[in-house]
Amino acid sequence: MNTSRILVIDDEFLIRRALADYLEDCDYETEMAADGAEGLAKIRARKFDAVLVDLRMPRVDGLEVVTTLKAEHPELPVVVVSGTGVLQDVIAAMRRGAWDYVTKPIHDMDEITVVVERVLERAQLIAERDRYQQELEQMTVELRSALEQAQAADRAKSQFVSSVSHELRTPLTSIRLYLSLLQTASEIRRKTYLDSLTRETMRLQTLIEGLLDISRLDLGKTKTQPRPTNLNELLTTLFTDRAKLFAEHRLTLHLDTAANLCTSLSDPKLIEQVATNLLTNAMNYTAAGGKVWLRTEMQPFNNQQWVTFSVQDTGPGITAEEQTHLFERFYRGSTGQNSNAPGTGLGLAICKEIVNLHRGHITLDSTVGTGSTFTVWLPMCETT
Ligand code: ADP
Repeated sequence: MNTSRILVIDDEFLIRRALADYLEDCDYETEMAADGAEGLAKIRARKFDAVLVDLRMPRVDGLEVVTTLKAEHPELPVVVVSGTGVLQDVIAAMRRGAWDYVTKPIHDMDEITVVVERVLERAQLIAERDRYQQELEQMTVELRSALEQAQAADRAKSQFVSSVSHELRTPLTSIRLYLSLLQTASEIRRKTYLDSLTRETMRLQTLIEGLLDISRLDLGKTKTQPRPTNLNELLTTLFTDRAKLFAEHRLTLHLDTAANLCTSLSDPKLIEQVATNLLTNAMNYTAAGGKVWLRTEMQPFNNQQWVTFSVQDTGPGITAEEQTHLFERFYRGSTGQNSNAPGTGLGLAICKEIVNLHRGHITLDSTVGTGSTFTVWLPMCETT
C-alpha cells in the first residue's frame, strides 16, 4: 500500500478527477483542489507528500502556487502540469522551484507515475540527507563538548601533577636541610631540628594520605555505603576523642546536639572523616584561648528538612575572596600558609567531594576577626 498523499490542483474537473482516480488506482491517497487558492489552503491545513498543479488557472495560477510553496514548504515536491507548446511556462515554473513537470494532453498515464515516483524518491533522499546532516551536526556538537571536557580534564591533571610535585618537594627539601643541619648541630638546636623533621614528615604523610583519598574519589573507588546514621552518637564519640587534644591547644571544644535530630542517610566512616577534617582545621587555625562548637541541628533548605552538623570557631575568619577558592584542591588560604600546621590544601576539597557523594552540600559562614562556621547538610533518612 502506497501511503503517500498527493494533492491534485486543476481547474478542469475532468482532468483533476482523472488524475486523482488514476493515482488512487496506483494506491496513492489523493485530494483535489479546483484552483491555486484552494490548493494552498489545503496544504496549509494538512501534510501532503507531493502536489500536481496545473499552470494555467484562474485566480491564483500554478506559477504562484509554485512560488508560494517554495517559500513555505521547500521540502514539498511540486510537479507542474502544462499544456504542450508553452515550454516557457515550464521553464519559469522550474526556475521558481517546481521539481518536475508533465505535459497535457497526457497520452500515457504511466508518465504520471514515473514523475510522481521520481519526485517522491528525491524528497525522501533529501529528507534522509537532512536527517543525517542534523545527526552529524548533533554529533559534532557532542564531540566538540567531549573534546573540550577531555582537554579541560587534561589541563586539570597537568595542574594537579604540578601541584603535587611542588607540594612534595617543599617538605622533602626541608627534611634534607634539617638532616644536614642535624649532623653538625649543637645539643640545644638538635631538639628544634628534630621537631621540624617530625613536622615535615607528618606533612608528607598527610599529603600522601590526602592524595590517596583524592585519587580514590577521582577513580570512583570511594564507595559510599549510606545507611541510617545517628549523627548525635557519631559526633559525641568524636567529641570525646578530641576534647583532650583541643585542651592541649588551649581551646575549648563544646558539643551541642539537637534532641529532635533525625537519622541521616550517610556513610558513618566518610562523615567522620569530614567532621575530623573540619575539627582539625578549627583546631589548627584558632588561636589559643578560643572556642569551637560542634553542633547538630535539623534545618530547612529548598523546601526540605536536612540533618546538619556544623563546626564553629572563634578563629581569624576567612575573607570573601578566599572563600571562593576554599574548596579547590591544593588551595591554602593566608591562614593556612601562615600557620605552622602541616596543611596540604586538600582537606576541604576532599570534604566537599565526600559530601557531594552523599547528595548533600557544605556551606561556610565566616567573618574576618570573628570566626567561621562550616555546615554539612545531609539528606534525612526517609524511614525516620
Ligand atoms: P589545609 O588546612 O591543609 O590548608 P584545607 O583544604 O583544609 O587545607 O583548607 C584550605 C584553607 O582554608 C586553609 O589553608 C585555610 O587558609 C582555610 N581554612 C580552613 N578552615 C579554616 C578555619 N576554620 N578558619 C580559618 N581558615 C580556615
